[in-house]
Amino acid sequence: MSRSGLCQVCERAEATASCDRCGALVCGDHYDRERGVCADCLAGLG
Ligand SMILES: [Zn+2]
Ligand SMILES: [Zn+2]
Repeated sequence: MSRSGLCQVCERAEATASCDRCGALVCGDHYDRERGVCADCLAGLG
């Protein structure tokens, strides 16, 4: 039962990374490579 990865932020693009903080699968547009977190977590990091 693996639905291969759509980005959990935009749910449109293919996920290419996983957030180190919450584990969400995210696309390149919604992943911060410097911090290794998704856009949602990045917004909460300040
Ligand atoms: Zn996305
Ligand atoms: Zn996250």
